[in-house]
Amino acid sequence: MEIKRISHWIDGKPWVGVTERSGDVFDPATGAVTGRVDFAAQSEVDLAVSAAARAFPGWRDTSLAARANVLFAFRELLNARKKELAEIITAEHGKVLDDAAGEIQRALEAVEFACGIPHLLKGGFSENVSRRVDVYSIRQPLGVVGVISPFNFPAMVPLWFVPNAIACGNSVVLKPSEKDPSASNWVAELWAEAGLPDGVLNVLHGDKVAVDGLLTHPTVRAISFVGSTPIARYVYETGTRNGKRVQALGGAKNHMVVLPDADLDLAADAAVSAGFGSAGERCMAISVVVAVGDAGDPLVDKIGERMSRLHVGDGRRGCDMGPLVTAAHRDRVTSYVDAGLAAGATLAVDGRDVPIDGSPDGFWLGPTLFDHVRPEMSIYTDEIFGPVLSVVRVPTYEAAVDLVNANPWGNGTAIFTNDGGAARRYQNEIEVGMVGVNVPIPVPVGYYSFGGWKDSLFGDTHAYGPDGIHFFTRTKVVTSRWLDPSHGGVNLGFPRHD
Ligand code: NAD
Repeated sequence: MEIKRISHWIDGKPWVGVTERSGDVFDPATGAVTGRVDFAAQSEVDLAVSAAARAFPGWRDTSLAARANVLFAFRELLNARKKELAEIITAEHGKVLDDAAGEIQRALEAVEFACGIPHLLKGGFSENVSRRVDVYSIRQPLGVVGVISPFNFPAMVPLWFVPNAIACGNSVVLKPSEKDPSASNWVAELWAEAGLPDGVLNVLHGDKVAVDGLLTHPTVRAISFVGSTPIARYVYETGTRNGKRVQALGGAKNHMVVLPDADLDLAADAAVSAGFGSAGERCMAISVVVAVGDAGDPLVDKIGERMSRLHVGDGRRGCDMGPLVTAAHRDRVTSYVDAGLAAGATLAVDGRDVPIDGSPDGFWLGPTLFDHVRPEMSIYTDEIFGPVLSVVRVPTYEAAVDLVNANPWGNGTAIFTNDGGAARRYQNEIEVGMVGVNVPIPVPVGYYSFGGWKDSLFGDTHAYGPDGIHFFTRTKVVTSRWLDPSHGGVNLGFPRHD
């Protein structure tokens, strides 16, 4: 089988890398190497940033109507050709086709939001703040911005940022994950087809060298990063030390609290869907079910029964759950099954030996459930990022809240209950950025913003939606006096308007 070379997209065209360094790209369902992605050298970081810098002045002065037209055209193209993109995602990430289609649908929301850019960029205006003096505020683009994305949403996460960034008039260098890089090249070509001028969006593939190159490049003004917490912290600290605006979204450990009065069938459906969708490789996956009081035994039975019906295999064959992204990641996740057993948790469902509808060489691990997990166990303390779900049992609602709030992550959480008062109290007391009430994966719609608290996000601005517009612009306030100015003479006092 031919191994394709995956290289950069710079200044509106493919750019074949000059460096000797590259990484293997796999089809996770077969284990085969299908591609080799070039890793950028510093000289290529410079090239991509220069292309973006050259494109910036023309793009920032392009009319809002013309920019919106490009966004509308891109939206139409993406919607028409989303099946192609879903196939690319499944071939390199492994998630089932239906799930890949879902990721694109959520990406479309972010594009559709940015189509409203003429309205979103409106400033404020105050007439006559003083005699014949007006004040107005405008939002201007930053310049060249960097977007660095993780493997688990190869289309959606870049498209959380790129539409808003370019709609605001910035130019972008995108550094996608090296594990599933092809989606970004496909999307870049689509932007070109939609009429985006050369250089406004560049795709630079690579590893730490490319990331560090962007973080320290004097021309890059801002960085949007999504990935694991240690790298997010590093990106935030390095980027801000180099004078950049940074939003760095990190990892997660999302708890789903189930109160005894909840609809346990609904809760069990939700736990299985949110725990094992995309093989647990979602930053909003439920990885811990917190069973309160009497909810524990029936809930674990119901979850186990649903898990036994899951069909694991090649994402192109209509299965429920696909493989993990690489063999190394599968081995790391599997090591937590051993760790959980060694720590004394009850292995209620063992995913290591499930029947697979696919090649034996794929990177498989079936859905796994641990019961009676305690907070000091590594299966609780670490982000596993795979199909391993833990049940922690607590006696009361208060103990559940204490557990969630003591966790260093605060990305998403959910409460399942039929008690409106308990749900309202939970949304008020819980220290987490996104909360679901009888909804297990509360990813906000595109016209709100996405972001966690604590170790799940470094920086003060969330992703996409209104926060995205805020992040990719800076405000300027103009105080102006025109025609027939009053001549008050020289006055060294501080300007005042009373
Ligand atoms: P990762 O941190 O390994 O990689 C993310 C990006 O950082 C990639 O582009 C990668 O090339 C780059 N990178 C990796 N190591 C680096 C280093 N040493 N120095 C500089 N850059 C480096 O994350 P991943 O495995 O691709 O993605 C999974 C992680 O992302 C999980 O922790 C998940 O929770 C998180 N995630 C978070 C969100 C969110 O919104 N909070 C969304 C999706 C994924």
